[in-house]
Amino acid sequence: MLDTTMTEALAGQLRGNLLTPDVPGYDEARALFNGMFDRKPSMIAQCTGTADVITCVNFARENDLPLTVKGGGHGVAGKAICDDGLVIDLTSMNGVLVDPELKTAQVQAGATLADLDHETQKFGLAVPSGTDSRTGVAGLTLGGGYGHLGRRFGLTVDNLLAADVVTADGSLVRASENDNADLFWALRGGGGNFGVVTSFEFRLHEVGPEILTAQCFHLFDDAREVMQFYRDFLADTPKEIFCVCLVLRVPPMPPFPEEHHGKIAVALVANDSRSEATEENSPLRKLAAFGKPILSVVMPMQFTALQSNFDAGFPKGARYYWKGHYLPDLPDEAIDTLLAQTEPFPGEFTAYGLEAMDGAISEVDPSATAFPHRNTRFGLGIFANWADESRDDEAIAWARRFHEALEPFSTGGSYVNYLAVDAGDKFREAYGANFERLREIKQRHDPQGLFDAHQRLVAK
Ligand SMILES: Cc1cc2nc3c(=O)[nH]c(=O)nc-3n(C[C@H](O)[C@H](O)[C@H](O)COP(=O)(O)OP(=O)(O)OC[C@H]3O[C@@H](n4cnc5c(N)ncnc54)[C@H](O)[C@@H]3O)c2cc1C
Repeated sequence: MLDTTMTEALAGQLRGNLLTPDVPGYDEARALFNGMFDRKPSMIAQCTGTADVITCVNFARENDLPLTVKGGGHGVAGKAICDDGLVIDLTSMNGVLVDPELKTAQVQAGATLADLDHETQKFGLAVPSGTDSRTGVAGLTLGGGYGHLGRRFGLTVDNLLAADVVTADGSLVRASENDNADLFWALRGGGGNFGVVTSFEFRLHEVGPEILTAQCFHLFDDAREVMQFYRDFLADTPKEIFCVCLVLRVPPMPPFPEEHHGKIAVALVANDSRSEATEENSPLRKLAAFGKPILSVVMPMQFTALQSNFDAGFPKGARYYWKGHYLPDLPDEAIDTLLAQTEPFPGEFTAYGLEAMDGAISEVDPSATAFPHRNTRFGLGIFANWADESRDDEAIAWARRFHEALEPFSTGGSYVNYLAVDAGDKFREAYGANFERLREIKQRHDPQGLFDAHQRLVAK
């Protein structure tokens, strides 16, 4: 426990609030998206700008305090909050500044995807990002970032032009292709190991504000054929078309037929982001016409609505334990193995999904950024999500079994943003051939391991 002299000394140097356990707002500020974590930091600094961040980094280093950084607080591994240390909470730093002429956006590191889309979509522009609008731009970007526009425009990091970073010695540095190029390389997939990013600069693309979407739900009995169709459909469909294949429970609400509510189903959720796409000319028609769906809709949608389409299925405060693989292809044996792992499907919100990783994502060399998973067709996310603590063991065991069963079909790599809290030294595997370079860069920028607490990617 810190004495009050220390907390007062820090509070006096900040423009933002410093929350301690006895202060209103403390519990709200330490609550993470993943309800499995109940960590109690000594202090939460609600930073209002770079000056506060520098002050906190210096304070933690000088006082040898555990230090973590909270972007959106959405990380599955719950690493944004520590016990008994200092949290740099960036939530209030959520400004987004769009330059519609240059097609760039300056994004403060506490912004969520919803904040980013809100500002960029006003100009019919977008950054490719993730599929849950409450996710923090910071954590998502630092791990790689992929979602509905990935096949067309690549990862979020492939559209990162620069970042401002407070390093372990309290300096503010710019990282881009021309400034601190090694740091810039590491930030594009290497996580929060190298400093506190205070803002990002992204390249924007013309998308929306409406795009053509398809959502087709099939009974689980037909899952084998649906997955085969999904694999073959993507193989000969232009990269402007994105599709995710999700196994999940049918949401208990209209327009889903009542007799199927709560049953396990397989859904194809796709979009054609070309401005000229219509229901008549788009390959999405083929998707909607396939099989015997219980619900099949092709329609234009606001891009921001697509971006928050999955939010309700992942409630804040529920329990999340995730694992993942990258699959170079999806042979029938892999599909059969996936399907055999589905039961007991523990929890109301449990799901698993195949996300397309080809197209623009795979056009980048695996060593060009720290994110190495470029020569692969699918990302597999195993999402054990449930509400009741008494089901922890069952849900975690399901995710582990599932993960193990799919190993023979995997590249061996995994997505750092989907690693559960007990991932241990899986980080080495997650980065494959890029691991050693990350370690060298870590040694240069954070030799004392100030930023190790939240992601022990590169151990001291
Ligand atoms: C429901 C759900 C849906 C998701 N969907 C997708 C998806 O579609 N695509 C995808 O790619 N990922 C997805 N993710 C994973 C997501 O990218 C990660 O959880 C991401 O880390 C969240 O970022 P955050 O800023 O909200 O998290 P936080 O928990 O705040 O941070 C995550 C990690 O990054 C560090 N960090 C945060 N901000 C900074 C900073 N400014 N500087 C340095 N380090 C920092 C933290 O310390 C922590 O270690 C999803 C996660 C959830 C829970």
